[in-house]
Amino acid sequence: MSGLKVEQIPVLNDNYVYIITCTETGQTAVVDPAVHAPVIKALGDRPLHYILNTHHHADHTGGNLALKEKYNCTIIGAGKDAARIPGIDKKVHEGDEVKVGNQPAKVYETPGHTIGHIIYHFENNHALFCGDTLFAGGCGRLFEGSAEQMFNSLQKIKAMSDETKVYCAHEYTLQNYKFLHHAAPDDGHVEARLNTVAAMRSEGKRTVPSKLADEKKSNLFLTAGSVKEFANLRKAKDTF
Ligand SMILES: [Zn+2]
Repeated sequence: MSGLKVEQIPVLNDNYVYIITCTETGQTAVVDPAVHAPVIKALGDRPLHYILNTHHHADHTGGNLALKEKYNCTIIGAGKDAARIPGIDKKVHEGDEVKVGNQPAKVYETPGHTIGHIIYHFENNHALFCGDTLFAGGCGRLFEGSAEQMFNSLQKIKAMSDETKVYCAHEYTLQNYKFLHHAAPDDGHVEARLNTVAAMRSEGKRTVPSKLADEKKSNLFLTAGSVKEFANLRKAKDTF
């Protein structure tokens, strides 16, 4: 991934926080700092220029204020949800560009999990930071938005290139594929992914980031052809 270095920090039960660095300028951002201490530890002597938040939930913004206090960094988040993003400095909307050093990311509004959810796509680097919108083998729960909103949000991701790496915010993959296999026992792509992911987890390996190419084959939330199909699947997952 030329130009953008990504470090993955596992925190809390199953969250991933990402430190991303422009390799040309050394500018640094942290995506969804659930907590501050592990981020400070990982940064060492390096500065922190930006916080990129995908949504307001505490396990994505809990480290915002402590990090801003220590590094005087700029907090970027959804303009439509500014009131709920602690310490927000820069409000962004659909189609806006955010830069970490020389590396541009396009912002997409992806309501569904929350009304104000956004994602950051570093297209040149094939890196997507999608918070709790898309997971490997799953998607976020519909806490605030409708099934139709989430379906439309997922279509934006589906349109991205196959090489895109999906840097989602949780290690939920194995549970997601157990559900998908239950929901679609005859789907060979799902079964193959379940076996791969189960083997990885039994070896203690991370399954995130995943490749969008794999999600387009086996993530039935992403492949759903209609709002109704998506809504039924999401409803079934809620009680699995
Ligand atoms: Zn969330």
